[in-house]
Amino acid sequence: LIKNAASLEFMEKINLLVVDKTGTLTEGKPKLTSIITSNNKDQDQLLQLVASLEKGSEHPLAGAIIEGAKSKNLSLLAIENFQSITGKGVTAKVDGKEIAFGNSKLLEQLNIKEDAELVKQANDLRESGQTVMLVGVDGKAAGIVSVSDPIKKTSKEALHNLRASGIRIVMLTGDNEKTAQAVASQLEIDEIEAGVLPNRKSEVIKKFQEQGFKVAMVGDGINDAPALAQANIGIAMGSGTDIAINSADITLLKGDLTGIVKARKLSQATMKNIRQNLFFAFAYNAIGIPIAAGVLYPFFGILLSPIIASLAMICSSLSVVLNAARLKG
Ligand code: ADP
Ligand code: MG
Repeated sequence: LIKNAASLEFMEKINLLVVDKTGTLTEGKPKLTSIITSNNKDQDQLLQLVASLEKGSEHPLAGAIIEGAKSKNLSLLAIENFQSITGKGVTAKVDGKEIAFGNSKLLEQLNIKEDAELVKQANDLRESGQTVMLVGVDGKAAGIVSVSDPIKKTSKEALHNLRASGIRIVMLTGDNEKTAQAVASQLEIDEIEAGVLPNRKSEVIKKFQEQGFKVAMVGDGINDAPALAQANIGIAMGSGTDIAINSADITLLKGDLTGIVKARKLSQATMKNIRQNLFFAFAYNAIGIPIAAGVLYPFFGILLSPIIASLAMICSSLSVVLNAARLKG
């Protein structure tokens, strides 16, 4: 779905594509994969605590955790003082305990020391491309929970096509550098910006624009809206949030990157078609109008009969319309 003609025109000029990891590249439907607790504490209990916390969050990661708890028939507990910290995670009081759930930045902000053994296990999971979230209970690192979000089947080929047409590809994510690296290497993406806080995403776009790039940005989340607006062309996934779709110029209804390849082809074909049509319109008029005005009359006695003239007008419009209609094919 292309919202305005200007973005269609611009699409063929794009030379840098910034893609949000979850917005495109992966399925965007993370699934709970592992729960590791420190000191052999009960895994289900830890999952119950963090799932209870996630009730208040709209993040796709929250959905994965809650689904995971449900599939183990765990009930969700009442929470107090819920807080969502953008780009970091969530905190609340559950069952009399202060629970924090999110990334390293969250634990750092709360002065919770990471546990060396958990860090090691977290890094192993990250290296396999999983997103790891850390759990703090009453000010201490208590475990990690990981989710995996498989790479979309269409991503690799679409990126290959875009690269082949000379577009530089950069992956942008709030997720950990190691996880980002693992996903990127499977897609042969060699440039990543990881650990980017939501409000910094648009600055990354700006930085590239200042270097002279024409930037398209693909995203799905609430967090991506300012970056989508900053980009020369903002592309939202049809499966993404309404706010992302509203800030974007183009929405990929099927939610995969193949749509960008198509949009570029459409853009190139449309611009070529517009140039041909301008030629048709000018050519008919450039020839027809002087003849109708009688420039040939003094030399050859030729005048354009009004019937022929109006026929030529129709032909001009018809060729433009028919040529434009070809685009549908
Ligand atoms: P992105 O949209 O690029 O995936 P976000 O900025 O939304 O990243 O989140 C960055 C990181 O913060 C996540 O990878 C996760 O570790 C943590 N995080 C954010 N929201 C939550 C949440 N609701 N629950 C747990 N962790 C979260
Ligand atoms: Mg996101």
